[in-house]
Amino acid sequence: MLQIDNLRASVGGTPILNGLSLSVNAGEIHAIMGPNGAGKSTLAYVLGGRPGYEVTGGSVSFGGQDLLAMEPHERAAAGMFLGFQYPVEIPGVSNVQFLREALNAQRKARGQEPLSGGDFLKLAREKAGLLRLDMDMLKRNVNVGFSGGEKKRAEMVQMGILDPQFAVLDETDSGLDIDALKIVGEGINAIMRKPDKAVLLITHYQRLLDYVKPDKVHVLAAGRIVKTGGPELAHQLESEGYEAVAA
Ligand code: ADP
Ligand code: MG
Ligand code: MG
Repeated sequence: MLQIDNLRASVGGTPILNGLSLSVNAGEIHAIMGPNGAGKSTLAYVLGGRPGYEVTGGSVSFGGQDLLAMEPHERAAAGMFLGFQYPVEIPGVSNVQFLREALNAQRKARGQEPLSGGDFLKLAREKAGLLRLDMDMLKRNVNVGFSGGEKKRAEMVQMGILDPQFAVLDETDSGLDIDALKIVGEGINAIMRKPDKAVLLITHYQRLLDYVKPDKVHVLAAGRIVKTGGPELAHQLESEGYEAVAA
């Protein structure tokens, strides 16, 4: 589903990704772990097509298409979803408005009719229930005054509504208390643990992986994958540290 070959990328002229290769099949969840500054978020932004992240080499194929040749909105329409480490606040726009516009933009790009208000609310209610987020939260402005945990749960509601093929989740567990961690983990499983979907789960900590069991764990250091293993690698990293394991 996603094939990254020898990817190189720079930010402001500084090389950050230095020949990163990774391949994720449908039905798989891969975790990417690594020390601060390793390039994890940069990888997520490059996959999302964020301006300022300059690809200087390599290739990324998504479902057989050249991902890097696509505009960010085309990537979304093709089924790629990005969850951010720091979700933005949008004063003046309610979650419901934002989610409905995002969904209908995606439907339009796929040549589908927009969803009616009633059908949309039904869908939103179902996904909010999955993340145990009150519908009143979805009527509030996007992320304004939300706790860290509420922002992440709202983002997972968005993922549920857009129903992507592939999700890149960047530190979705950051700022979550243990109850929220469990809810978010179970939400990711319910939405994305399907034979025709895949996830790249970027995380600093092993604890999210207790809920979302990865098929593979990769260690990213200095802009490339330096080690790949199974779920046991995450435990080893947690107990021994990145230096010892990935040196
Ligand atoms: P991680 O998510 O693994 O902690 P990042 O991808 O955020 O790492 O950052 C990797 C490196 O790129 C860091 O050294 C960081 O300082 C640098 N970097 C990231 N974004 C920018 C930016 N916008 N401008 C300059 N340097 C950046
Ligand atoms: Mg970081
Ligand atoms: Mg990061």
